[in-house]
Amino acid sequence: MQITICEILNHIEQIAPAETAEAYDNVGLILGRRDQNVSKVLIALDATMEVVEEAEKLGAELIITHHPLLFRARKKLTEEDPEAKVICRMIRSGIALLSAHTNLDKTVHSGSAACADLLGLKDVHQEGLLFIGTLPAKMTAFDLKQKMANVIMPDVRLYGDENIAIETLAICGGAYDEGWLEAKASGAQALLTGEVRHHNALAAVMDGFALYDAGHFGTEAPLVKPLCEYLQNWANDVQYDVTFFSSDVIPYGRT
Ligand SMILES: [Zn+2]
Repeated sequence: MQITICEILNHIEQIAPAETAEAYDNVGLILGRRDQNVSKVLIALDATMEVVEEAEKLGAELIITHHPLLFRARKKLTEEDPEAKVICRMIRSGIALLSAHTNLDKTVHSGSAACADLLGLKDVHQEGLLFIGTLPAKMTAFDLKQKMANVIMPDVRLYGDENIAIETLAICGGAYDEGWLEAKASGAQALLTGEVRHHNALAAVMDGFALYDAGHFGTEAPLVKPLCEYLQNWANDVQYDVTFFSSDVIPYGRT
């Protein structure tokens, strides 16, 4: 049975309703036509030019991303602008774009939930934007950093004393370093996020708290594969003739 973008959109609406997205956000169908049939869908964190090229090679008619394009309003789509260039390329190639951003962050399909899963956290619960859980075994901040480097992203930075014992970890994929106070109040000894700013690192370290920075991409890219598998299983159950692919693109070099 053929599937339309509208049916995929409706299903995503069920797992991550657009009304739960932040007011500043731009989610749902960003580019394309609801009644378009699709047979191949590519899932990625960002719609970069490399991801669009990947979709073209696959013959995908739709890209689903976490980060939306047109996040900020614009009045021109001229191709000297990198984002506009991607949008024009997608239009020319007949590729639609659907994004689930802050509405996805609050669900089990978020980057935070995927990181918690990779680290084997137990009793995971949500408090605001944080996913909080217990490590399989108490470990030092240094050992936890090594574990993160093995299962999440090779480049992890630890701010704090390497010898602190960590049992409860809070996670917020993307950028939420200011969440460390909330994480501490919830009983966690450490927070894993991306984009840790100097002033928050200083304050956390002085307070005996550990902050891990595995990068914005590093802490959210883990959502792509599980979301792809989830959507494929759903489509198979309903007997839709569609294949979901997860993007292999890493948007910038690792340091
Ligand atoms: Zn993000």
